[in-house]
Amino acid sequence: MEETYIPNRFGRFLLMALEQALGTPGFQAMLGRGGLRHLAVYPPDNLERGFPVGLIPRLMAALEEMYGVGKGRELAFQAGQTCFHLGVADFGVLADIADLVFPLLPPLTRARIGLETMAEILNRVTDGHVHVQRQDGHLFWVVERCGVCQGRTSSSPCCHLLAGLLYEAVHWATGRDSVTVTEVACAASGGPHCAMEIDLG
Ligand SMILES: [Zn+2]
Repeated sequence: MEETYIPNRFGRFLLMALEQALGTPGFQAMLGRGGLRHLAVYPPDNLERGFPVGLIPRLMAALEEMYGVGKGRELAFQAGQTCFHLGVADFGVLADIADLVFPLLPPLTRARIGLETMAEILNRVTDGHVHVQRQDGHLFWVVERCGVCQGRTSSSPCCHLLAGLLYEAVHWATGRDSVTVTEVACAASGGPHCAMEIDLG
């Protein structure tokens, strides 16, 4: 598959989030294990597309190898949550008006606006082809070319980094703790694409 790139800033946020979740010694050990020691030096904070998408599944695989699948995926979820907070400033206008407008809207609408805004940002700077669908009061995040699991094979859905990011976005948009994000299809485990079902609880 042809190598694709995401903005350096996204790669930087991902590495910062992983270092926070694992602690510096764990982070360094994980990079060593994955043959990714060069990533200990973060990419610069700019929007140039210089961070290879293919490094993300390698990081996820290294995480699961080092901590075991269960704990590794838990840490990936946590890192996804942190990525949202690092990136929320890039929500721009939405972040500014959310406090004013969101209380007036029903939670499902707030969640949809939050997810659609994030999808728009990701579609502008990545090749994931994300769309947000609404079906029977549930929201679905569908990503045609998932950068989290590309090239991996897994017996169960493995895009917990993405699930954590979406959980935190919807939690932020709705203020609800009862949000759940379930990966209902995963390209790495035989799905046609990756899809997350978001339920507000
Ligand atoms: Zn995926």
